[in-house]
Amino acid sequence: MHRDYYSSVEWEKIIAFSKTKETPFLVVILDKIRQKFWEFRTGFPQAKIYYAVKANPDFAVLSLLRDLGSYFDIASIYELNDVLELGVSPERLSFGNTIKKARHVHEAYKKGVRLFASDSEADIRNLAKEAPGSRVFFRILMDAITSDADWPLSRKFGCQPRMVTDLVLLATELGLEPYGLSFHVGSQQREISAWDAAIAQAKYLIESLEKKQIHLKAMNMGGGFPADYLVKSNPLSVYAEEINRYLDFHFGNVIPEIYLEPGRGLVGEAGVLVSEIVLISKKSKPDLNRWVYTDVGIFNGLMETLGESIKYPAYTDKTGETGDVILAGPTCDSMDIMYEHFKYQLPLSLQIGDRIYWLSTGAYTASYSAIEFNGFPPLKTYCL
Ligand SMILES: *Cc1c(COP(=O)(O)O)cnc(C)c1O
Repeated sequence: MHRDYYSSVEWEKIIAFSKTKETPFLVVILDKIRQKFWEFRTGFPQAKIYYAVKANPDFAVLSLLRDLGSYFDIASIYELNDVLELGVSPERLSFGNTIKKARHVHEAYKKGVRLFASDSEADIRNLAKEAPGSRVFFRILMDAITSDADWPLSRKFGCQPRMVTDLVLLATELGLEPYGLSFHVGSQQREISAWDAAIAQAKYLIESLEKKQIHLKAMNMGGGFPADYLVKSNPLSVYAEEINRYLDFHFGNVIPEIYLEPGRGLVGEAGVLVSEIVLISKKSKPDLNRWVYTDVGIFNGLMETLGESIKYPAYTDKTGETGDVILAGPTCDSMDIMYEHFKYQLPLSLQIGDRIYWLSTGAYTASYSAIEFNGFPPLKTYCL
């Protein structure tokens, strides 16, 4: 199974390294990120790529992307401080979180950030006061589009087009520079046509703002690019080809500057989470289900299995006949079950102490890991 996700050289490297270490931990193959970054560059040669730091803020990952010339989308002043510490200049940053304290806007501005995303009047007023003259992306609400993503972003971000118009006018009046529209089609969005609908909506809004003498220069198409999990996705090149076609169709030869903010799509496939089986049990003698408890669970890396949303490929080197298992984590919390309704198949020969390798776990694992729930330490990351 690992062969579907990693080359034999990559896999041998992962295994050789893993042998020496106590589980659980995340191994990140930096070359895979390098490769993906190149795929984004080639697929979208006209775009500026802002890596969404929250997907995996490991310093080795950030340093690699810094050296490859990436820009960065930050969600907080803490991420801001991390990237600045690594020598990234503030012109390469966008503060993409629409929810932020006035004093954090102040701090970001003081440290040189001049690009922000917003979706509310209160935030625009904060920006005008604490980050005067800055460029602003206005985020459009995409709830109808994001709902079919595997990790939807719901109604939390963005506002309705009418409100975007009001905010753009307000921002202009307050001396900010309305720079573009932004959207996010939902994370792990496998349905390519989601971008079509979003681009159409953005184009419509850009046109209607033109009539009010507001010229937005850019469109920020966010993240959402899928990683290969148990369900595979089309390669990035297919997404790029289709999305470029949508851009041509909707904008013709006056395509705005394009910004992308990939997180998962850039780093997801680069990671393998290595865990060990702590316990295998049944709830009664005739019970057909085996409960397999691993030393990694919802709280120390596998948060996105909540609601069984993201289904990671789980690999063991045991072979032979397989059977249904319920996979759960190590904490004393009844929510700490990864997969119960969707039945994973694992070999019947599986034993306590065997390792389970969770593939494609480079995004939203270590960064989601709790600090010390039940005393378990946060997930460690090793970059190779
Ligand atoms: C989280 C986030 C992203 C990254 O999303 P992915 O689905 O991981 O690509 C991009 N932009 C913004 C504003 C985000 O909050």
